[in-house]
Amino acid sequence: MNYDLALIGLGASNSLLLLELHERELLHDLDVLILEAESKWKNDKTYCFWGESQDPIFSTLGPLLLKEWTRLEFSGEVEQMESMRYGMLESITLYEHAKQIILQYPGINLVRASLTSFKSEAEGVAVYSDNTKWMAQRVYDSRPPEIKEPTGPLVLQSFTGWRVKTDWPNWDPSQLVLMDFNIPQNGFTQFMYILPIDEHEALVEVTRFGSEVFPDDLATTHLKSYLLGLEGPYDVVHEEQGVIPMTQHALQQHPDARIISMGARGAVIKPTTGYGFKYMYDRAKELVGELEQQTVVRKHQFWNWPRTGIGRHYFYDHLLLHILKYKPQWGKEIFTKLFTNRTHEGIFQFLDEKSTLRWELGMFAGLPIMKFLWSVVASFFAFLRTRPARWAPMAMVLTAMGLQATLSQFAQPISLGILVFMLFLIGIPHGALDGYGHANGMRLPKFILRYSGIMAIVLLFWVASPIVGLLAFIIYSAWHFGETDMREWGLPSAILSMVWGTILFALLLLPHMSDVNLVLSTMGISEVTISEGALVTAYRAAAAIGVVGGLWFASVPWLISITTLLLLGEQSLAIAFGTYFILQHSASGWDHLKKAHQWSHIQMFMRALPFTIGAVALFLLIFQFDRNSLSQWSSYFLIFLSALSLPHIYFMSRLYQKQD
Ligand SMILES: Cc1cc2nc3c(=O)[nH]c(=O)nc-3n(C[C@H](O)[C@H](O)[C@H](O)COP(=O)(O)OP(=O)(O)OC[C@H]3O[C@@H](n4cnc5c(N)ncnc54)[C@H](O)[C@@H]3O)c2cc1C
Repeated sequence: MNYDLALIGLGASNSLLLLELHERELLHDLDVLILEAESKWKNDKTYCFWGESQDPIFSTLGPLLLKEWTRLEFSGEVEQMESMRYGMLESITLYEHAKQIILQYPGINLVRASLTSFKSEAEGVAVYSDNTKWMAQRVYDSRPPEIKEPTGPLVLQSFTGWRVKTDWPNWDPSQLVLMDFNIPQNGFTQFMYILPIDEHEALVEVTRFGSEVFPDDLATTHLKSYLLGLEGPYDVVHEEQGVIPMTQHALQQHPDARIISMGARGAVIKPTTGYGFKYMYDRAKELVGELEQQTVVRKHQFWNWPRTGIGRHYFYDHLLLHILKYKPQWGKEIFTKLFTNRTHEGIFQFLDEKSTLRWELGMFAGLPIMKFLWSVVASFFAFLRTRPARWAPMAMVLTAMGLQATLSQFAQPISLGILVFMLFLIGIPHGALDGYGHANGMRLPKFILRYSGIMAIVLLFWVASPIVGLLAFIIYSAWHFGETDMREWGLPSAILSMVWGTILFALLLLPHMSDVNLVLSTMGISEVTISEGALVTAYRAAAAIGVVGGLWFASVPWLISITTLLLLGEQSLAIAFGTYFILQHSASGWDHLKKAHQWSHIQMFMRALPFTIGAVALFLLIFQFDRNSLSQWSSYFLIFLSALSLPHIYFMSRLYQKQD
């Protein structure tokens, strides 16, 4: 059977999606498969959220909510919110409601099973749980994300909450306490939440922001000492524990546009708060709206993906996360000043990224600004250290330009010297390590034999027909360079990879046609003759498509890369290609391998050393045949690189596919 929709997981995000489908009466006409790994009979989470009072979330979920508040207390001061509300919902209520909906529709098939893999097929997405296969036209995947590549610091929000009942009236149910810092900080940011349900019952939660999880015994001590202040004895009727990773990570978008990432996987959790429930509700509305309009989603519809753009709120989150990770003891002062100087409603608007720049400047003026300046400087250095592929090519081209302006006769050798050094440091090693990592356990001689075998086939192509060898090299390199960059920028689409690869080859080669022809002639390939006008038009078209693509996806690294490539047009072919290949492509690939295999830089370099030495020896051997000229040298280098690349591309692509 080919289902219209498949929901993977029935937690918060997909329950909200189901609810929205039901509200809009779309479920009568749909066949829906739901795969859920667990029974979902437990109240495992309490979802809290805020919103404008007239927001539909309050009317839709109203009957399910355990409690709503409009008064919030901070440090003894109570604020009455004018236009907003804060709501609380038990997860079990949501799960049960979702199950009630399922029972109403014969077209819904709820299966208790764990998704093991997807396969993109022409007629739909194949959904597998071990050996069982289902087909679906559209898939909503809410499996938890694997945060392998956080783009900033990873902070853990760990908490323990007790639902406490007392015989005596202890709480004012009309108001809640969001962050009470009157507990020992122990070098972290630690606070209590008090969410009263009525005078006799409240959810009391102790929370820590830091790089270490709250130890159970310490959390219990804090809770008990808070509860000592209550009137009369108390009973703990329910306990909730959790850890929310607070980090800025790329949305895990599947290359097949028919598979939509939901909830935490869809990066809707606000990194600095761990809240995401309301955003999931809004996203469910948006997605069901698209379904209602009967828009057909095809496999390669990458332009429908949510943008990867980063705005000023991303920057603020980054600064705060940096503080919470490395200086968590500063949290108390920052949050206290924030809540004392600003209204809760203003802060909620800010957290929803709906505040104005003016409001934000006012907010920062009331915060310990030196601490944020420290964060700016520290995160800048962290960025330099952890993301070299994002800045090194630009730094290289600016260095080459600076050298040309000041030491013109040494500019070329110095720039080439830097690049050759980097080629042996990461360029060649990154091309061998992927295979080594992939060959898990394969004996080294056998692996080297296989690698060399593929290289030999490529070399044979070159010998048989240089033009075929060259064309094949350009095509598979364009694909591979494009794939690595798109993965790095969180846009894993096959079409985008090929388009970007073609653009970057055009920007690298077209301004250097005389150099290209020189290399071609030494290989015995006839020169490419293109009129000056056609060259300029093609170059401008490639640049324009590149810029539009970067703007469309609001991708800063993409835009930096295109600017670098345009500046490289003024450099020689060797510097232009070397800068891109070594400092952007190899550096990204190196980073992807490092994260995938959890290796250190030294480990990687040492593992690659036999291959690097082998590659240098092989290259010198080829070079021995003819050492006449630089262009001859370049052509050997190109052939050598093409032979080295094919097995590398094969293994690297397999690594990326495994990560999907
Ligand atoms: C304890 C806790 C409390 C939280 N409280 C709040 C809060 O108050 N407010 C707020 O805004 N956010 C809160 N969050 C953050 C976030 O909103 C929740 O984690 C939310 O549940 C995320 O929704 P989701 O749909 O992405 O994932 P989930 O709700 O976790 O749902 C994912 C579902 O997928 C299933 N699944 C996993 N793997 C497979 C598989 N291979 N095959 C089939 N099914 C699978 C799981 O069993 C699960 O049911 C909290 C998080 C935690 C951990």
